[in-house]
Amino acid sequence: MARSREILIAGTIIYGDDFTPRQGYLCISDGIIKEVGDENVEADFRGIVCPRFANAHVHTGDSALKDPPFLPLCDLVGPGGLKHRFLAEAPRSRIVEGMRRSLQDMAATGTYAFADFREGGPDGVEMLVEAQKDLPLFSRILGRPATGETDVSRRCWGFGISSTRDHDLSRLKAAAKVARSKDQHIAIHAGEAGNDDIDDALALEPDFLVHLNKATDDDLKKVAAACVPVVVCPRSNLMTGVGLPDIKRMTDLGITVGVGTDNVMLNSPNMFEEMQLIIKALLHDDRQVFKMCTLNGAEIMQIDQKVGSIREGKEAKLMVLNENSNNLWGTIQPLDSVVRRAGASDIIKIF
Ligand SMILES: [Zn+2]
Repeated sequence: MARSREILIAGTIIYGDDFTPRQGYLCISDGIIKEVGDENVEADFRGIVCPRFANAHVHTGDSALKDPPFLPLCDLVGPGGLKHRFLAEAPRSRIVEGMRRSLQDMAATGTYAFADFREGGPDGVEMLVEAQKDLPLFSRILGRPATGETDVSRRCWGFGISSTRDHDLSRLKAAAKVARSKDQHIAIHAGEAGNDDIDDALALEPDFLVHLNKATDDDLKKVAAACVPVVVCPRSNLMTGVGLPDIKRMTDLGITVGVGTDNVMLNSPNMFEEMQLIIKALLHDDRQVFKMCTLNGAEIMQIDQKVGSIREGKEAKLMVLNENSNNLWGTIQPLDSVVRRAGASDIIKIF
């Protein structure tokens, strides 16, 4: 019998760092996974129990711009492009409201942690803090210093920058040095419009790279040798027409691959949708794809000791899915069904 602050969930637990489905129960006590067992018990909730997602790359700042025209990448998000013109003109309150709506959407579609590449310098960071207030989400903020600054806001986890192509490399190196001296992290878009920025990005010794859809096999080997994780955003790549990343080759080379939904103006920040594209178009390996969207993202954000998978002692950042929903009814491989077809409408409860 559960004590007052304990919650029991029964059903199929997607358990451990290898995401093995097992029948049984899970007990949450004070927000921590206290126990996982095999017995069939009376429970508060019943269903498929999964860890929540880690969205390792998103720009929530452009959330108020929902339907831009199809344009080449540089015209959309490059310096002086549509996104930046919009952000310069939109009222601050509208930008913050758009961000808050996206964050609520993320929480409702199973995401727990996200890494936001924040434009707009210190006030851009402030906007995210305001938008996130009291929401059940964890953020890693990767800020961009305002023009002329080389410091990063203290509230940031680090420094998230667009392609090295957009910047003066020596200034970027100076900014990276400042970030490092403050124990802050560095993440860079690379290999998105072309592969000519990958060597410069690697030279900054980043904590992770974003995209690499244009990377050649030699580029991927260099990334693997440098042990730099990669966050892929294939729905974004489809919207901007830049080609898809070779996720299979990345995993074969041992690269840690995380997943991000990128600009909200291009795609909803819904990780179920990103996961479905990857499993169908890029990598027929349900377990690996689920890991990319959960534990790998948590590892890239350096929170994998606490969240990202279901193990005793970890925080219970979980969702319970209805295996009897019209969408999931009849599943005999719950993990595969979750990866290929589950969505927000299958969620019974989010912890
Ligand atoms: Zn991006």
